Order: sequence, then structure tokens, then C-alpha cells
Amino acid sequence: MANLKMFIDGEWKESETLETRPVINPANGEVISYSPEGTAVDARAAIFAARRAFEEGVWSGISAQERASYLFKIADKIEEYADELTQLETMDNGKPLREAGFDVGDAAACFRYYAGLITKPDGYTYHVADPMQAMVVREPVGVCGLIVPWNYPLLMSVWKIAPALAAGNTIVFKPSEVTPVTPKKLFEIFEEVGLPKGVANMVMGAGPVVGHEIASHPEVDMISFTGGTKTGKHIMKTAADTMKKVSLELGGKSPNIIFADADFETAVDYALFGIFSGSGQVCSAGSRILVEESIYDKFVERFVERAKKIKVGAGNDPVTEMGPLVSEQHLEKILHYIEVGLEEGATIACGGKRIVSKGLEKGFFVEPTVFINVKPEMKIVQEEIFGPVVVIQKFQDESEAVKLANNTIYGLAGAVFSNDGAKALRVIKKLRAGITWVNSYHPTYNEAPWGGYKQSGIGRSLGTFGLEEFQEIKQININLQVEPIGWFSN
Ligand code: NAD
Repeated sequence: MANLKMFIDGEWKESETLETRPVINPANGEVISYSPEGTAVDARAAIFAARRAFEEGVWSGISAQERASYLFKIADKIEEYADELTQLETMDNGKPLREAGFDVGDAAACFRYYAGLITKPDGYTYHVADPMQAMVVREPVGVCGLIVPWNYPLLMSVWKIAPALAAGNTIVFKPSEVTPVTPKKLFEIFEEVGLPKGVANMVMGAGPVVGHEIASHPEVDMISFTGGTKTGKHIMKTAADTMKKVSLELGGKSPNIIFADADFETAVDYALFGIFSGSGQVCSAGSRILVEESIYDKFVERFVERAKKIKVGAGNDPVTEMGPLVSEQHLEKILHYIEVGLEEGATIACGGKRIVSKGLEKGFFVEPTVFINVKPEMKIVQEEIFGPVVVIQKFQDESEAVKLANNTIYGLAGAVFSNDGAKALRVIKKLRAGITWVNSYHPTYNEAPWGGYKQSGIGRSLGTFGLEEFQEIKQININLQVEPIGWFSN
């Protein structure tokens, strides 16, 4: 694959220093390409291009219908290149083709959703005394800095870019330095559909360099960030100096609560899907399974039996059910957490090791890993591991389930499995989390708001809420009786 380039002011650019970094295929450790190591100077060039495009009104100044037609064309192109995007996503991130294919379909649907939404009525009038006519309108925020992680290289980009562009903003986008390949293809599509110059800019490079410049620069009006909670805190502090609007989608340690009256096989099946899809590198992963005491042993036995049979392999092998971790560095982090769990006194019910069998030895593969005999205060119960590692805890009754479920700094997602509808809803309502399911885990819809409580973030992606994140709200009061107010006597 040819070396990647950044997209600034409608042109493909190398880093001003010409420095690059290798992009690694996580399934075999091979270099697939090199991406530009952008600098603060590159980031500023993108910011100034976005600012100029915004001020000139080449995007915010055209009709909503026209903007929507660009977004519809982008969706069509994503579908036209679906096979290529799927292959690239698998090579870039490691995820199995089946998962990458879903992401590509979702990405097209997301552009269509926001293309439709932006042409629908919004704003409202409000009643005040005559002769004032009063209304509220929504306007773009301006230049939006969009910073995303590596776990859904394409989809996380689209969740931000589609609503930001629909709302009339111009953007400076930074993909993860680990997975710049599919984002680059997306920007080729932007070029192909003829987005005006400067509307969508992409700078690659390190978070503390390029990301920091975007988060701190006074010409950026908003930062929308998805990534780790620690980075999110740093970005929020950095953005405070210029009082940017901030939207943060951060980490999680989400509880999946299984009651004894649940459909047993359904609960086991979704619990496996909840933690091991995406190799556990999913912000909303059900990484803490809480099981009612009376079925705990039976649940662990069945869950472990099935976890051991998951087919781990390269994403482009059609039989693969779970791919590698995204990078060697991330693999080391996961193996470290497994060590920590053992040191803390937890028991491994299955997995726990790197996979070095023939053909996988150069990739970053870890066995699906299940910890039991855990205590609520253990690090492996409290901290986001972000890999195929799950803890299974026991609870006695509804109130203990809720207490354990809410007992972390996070509040992203959660699920309840039960055939007692009232109980399931009662528990869901007590969960301090923004994304929840009953008798299911993981399905995500473009129509529904996505985001967390507590230290899992601020604001929401997707749905109407996701568009509003990228809009300012203005009140307009029009005096229909144009005459002096006469407040002062002279
Ligand atoms: P990360 O925080 O390390 O990096 C995310 C992005 O921030 C990358 O583009 C990185 O280059 C950039 N960055 C790093 N330091 C920066 C700085 N100082 N200033 C500006 N930008 C900086 O996260 P990651 O390891 O790439 O992704 C994994 C994390 O993302 C997990 O915690 C996961 O839960 C979270 N995540 C959350 C959601 C959600 O919707 N809540 C979705 C996906 C991933």
C-alpha cells in the first residue's frame, strides 16, 4: 500500500518534517504502510483552512438540502467501496471481516441519517408580549476538532464527521496514530464527491502533538473527543483555556446483570458477545458479568465451555470469530492486567495467555480470558482493561446487583437479563449508565443517543442529540414596532 497522506485545504500533504510512522497489521506484525507524523505546524495549517472555509460560508452558507446531497453521495460512495473499506478496516485494526463489514454498513447509514435529519424542521418560536416576535434557531458551532481512537477506525470517525458536517461546521479531524488507513480512504471519498476546499481536513500524528494543538488552539470552537478517560480529562483541561465546547465519549467498565429467571442460553450467548466481540476492545463491552447466586456455577461452567471454543485468528480468515488486539503495546497492557488479576488473588477460569500457535505467533493474539473469585475492589474489576478479559461476579438479590453494578467510576453501558419485565426495568432505571439493554447486549442504532454518565463522558453522539452537540443555540427577538423605548428622559 502506498504511503498515506494528510488532507489539508483540499490537498494531500506529507508532514512538514517529512517524518512518517509505520502502520502495522495486528494479525501478523507486518508494516502495511507509513503515515505522516504530523506536527503542530501541520495541525495549524488544517485549523486555518477550516477557519477560512467556515468564515467564507462555503459550507454553512449553502442550503441544508445541498449539504444533505453531499452527505447522501458520501453514503453511496461508502457502499460502492464497501468491500475495499472492509478489507482495509480488517488490516488496519485486526477485527474480523464480519465485524468490519457491519461497521462499513453502519457508516453509510449514519451519513444518510444525518443527511435526512438536517433538512427537517428545527428551532421554535416562543411567546412574549407584542410587539416582539421571538424565536430560537440552531447554528453551526464553527471549526470543530474531532479526535478519535483506534477501536472503530471508520465508525468512530463517521459518528463525529457526519453530524458535524450536517450541522454546517468545518472540521479538523485526527484519526488514531495506530489506525489511519480507513480514515484516509474516507477522506478520498470526500474529495471524490467534491466537498469544498477546507471544509474537511485530516491531520495524522501523535495525540500529545497534533491532538494537543487542536484541543488548545483558539481558532477551534469545539472539541469532540472519543478515547480513554485519562486523555479526555487532559483534553477538557486543555480546552478550558479557550472555553471550547467539549464533547467526550470515554471509557467504561460496564455491568451485564444476569438474573436466575433469565433465558439461560440467551444470557450466556449475549454475555459472550458482550465481552469478546471486537476482542473486548469496545468502550461499551460487558466486561463485568454479574450473575445471581443460584445459577452462578452453572453460568460460569457454560460460559467458560463456550469461551474456550471461540475461534481466534486473523481477521481476514473467514472462520475467525475473534481477531487480534490492535497493537503490540496494547497486547502488553492486556497481559499486564492478567498478571495483576492473578496477583490480586483472582482465579483464571479459562484463557490468560498470549496465543503463539503456528500462523498467529507474529500477531497480537490473546485467549478469551475469564476471571472468577474476584472482589469488588480489585483493579481487574474497577479498571477498563479493553481486551478479551471478563470478570464474573456473584450477587444475592436485586439491590446487591445494582450496588455492584454502579460501583466503578464509569457509567457508559449496562444490561439486564430477566424474564420479569418489571424487575428488569426497575434495575435498568437504577443503573447510572447512558446506554442500556434488556435481554440483549451491544446493538447500537444511529437513531439513539450514545454516551456515558459519570467518568464515561459528557454529551451524546448519534440521534438528534448527536446533531445538537454540533450546534449553537441562538435566540432572536424582533421588535415589530420600531420606535424609541423612551427609558431615559433626556
Ligand atoms: P486514547 O485516549 O489513547 O486516544 C484517543 C485519541 O486521542 C487518539 O487519536 C490519540 O492520538 C489522541 N490523544 C492522545 N493523547 C492526546 C492528547 N494529549 N491531546 C489530544 N489528543 C490526544 O484512546 P485509545 O487507546 O485510542 O482508545 C481506547 C479508549 O477509547 C478506551 O478507553 C475506550 O473506552 C474509548 N472509547 C470510547 C468510546 C465511547 O463511545 N465512549 C468509543 C470508542 C472508544
